[in-house]
Amino acid sequence: MENCIFCKIIKGEIPCYKIYEDDLVLAFLDVSPMSIGHVLIIPKEHRENIFDVKEKHLERMIDVAKKIAQKMKDNMGAEGINLYHASGACAEQTVFHFHLHIVPREKDDNICFSGVAPQRKDISKEEFDAIVSKLKIG
Ligand SMILES: [Zn+2]
Repeated sequence: MENCIFCKIIKGEIPCYKIYEDDLVLAFLDVSPMSIGHVLIIPKEHRENIFDVKEKHLERMIDVAKKIAQKMKDNMGAEGINLYHASGACAEQTVFHFHLHIVPREKDDNICFSGVAPQRKDISKEEFDAIVSKLKIG
């Protein structure tokens, strides 16, 4: 994709603080981090979101996320981690090249992903059953 900032990073047209790279994925520091050590992992093929990303990329991204999370804990004192992803503008996706955020967290760091905690919904047993039938796999 010509105007995709992440594709430009993959091609080396825009520099990045590289954490990891292999045949399928690239991990680098977010230059506008939510916390110190905030990393982005992307597939090295342009994919927009969860609906078109390939499983092989997703699997590798999760493997790499676990290893980087361990580094954050061991070497940067992270007490916790958020794995964060957005697919679709309504879900607050802003760069339309699939990416996974790894955000190191510590107690009382005052990071709030949405700004406002979502209102929890009150759902009946019948509604839960109907939702299960729509989302059940296999
Ligand atoms: Zn791209």
